[in-house]
Amino acid sequence: MARHTLPTLVAIDGPAGSGKSSVSRAVARRLGFAYLDTGAAYRALAWLALDRKTDQTQADAVTALLKDFDYSIGTDPDEYFVTVGQTDVTDAIRSPEVSAAVSAVARVPAVREALTELFRSLAANVDRPGVVVEGRDITTIVAPEAEVRILLTASEEARMARRSAEITTQSAQTVAEQLRSRDRADSQVVDFMSAADGVITVDSTHLDFEQTIDAVIDVYHTRTKRALNE
Ligand code: C5P
Repeated sequence: MARHTLPTLVAIDGPAGSGKSSVSRAVARRLGFAYLDTGAAYRALAWLALDRKTDQTQADAVTALLKDFDYSIGTDPDEYFVTVGQTDVTDAIRSPEVSAAVSAVARVPAVREALTELFRSLAANVDRPGVVVEGRDITTIVAPEAEVRILLTASEEARMARRSAEITTQSAQTVAEQLRSRDRADSQVVDFMSAADGVITVDSTHLDFEQTIDAVIDVYHTRTKRALNE
């Protein structure tokens, strides 16, 4: 297939609490693009491991789950859903149990390979002119050739405060501890705290939601204009 028939890729990486998911979804809406949340697939596989009572620390057992992983995700920014088989797991994959289990699942190399392939195929087949793909390794591993590559960051303090405002069922301290330990585990596998070559950093520490969306859209326009002139 000729390159120009593929959707424009906007790749967004970043740690939890940087506003990655909500900003990516809003950016997709504004651009009329699809939105692909990649963390949901790791979460859904962790959910399946918990559901099957699979030991998530056993790489072979987790890898074996892949053959039964009948995964589906909505890429319309206004119709987000996640299913595994017949089960709608949209809410279940946000539980503290899944959040605590997901890093162990995400560190298994066979899982990363399979899901990376899945993300490439989902992104290539959206029915929109472009797609915003967000996760931890999108600018570096999943879509290093993306037209627009952004690392969305924020200070640890700002990220913890945002996350604890979202999660009202746990204390701010518990939320902060869980986030810190997940970031620590994840950063052993993927470097999502520093921008790779050619990746633009958007620091949202002192930006509100709308300002962060504007900053990402600005990068999008600068990058795509430059690509046209090259
Ligand atoms: O983005 P979200 O917090 O939903 O991601 C959940 C988990 O999935 C992360 O903590 C990380 O372990 C894993 N993940 C990953 N690579 C991605 C997206 C998510 O390893 N591209």
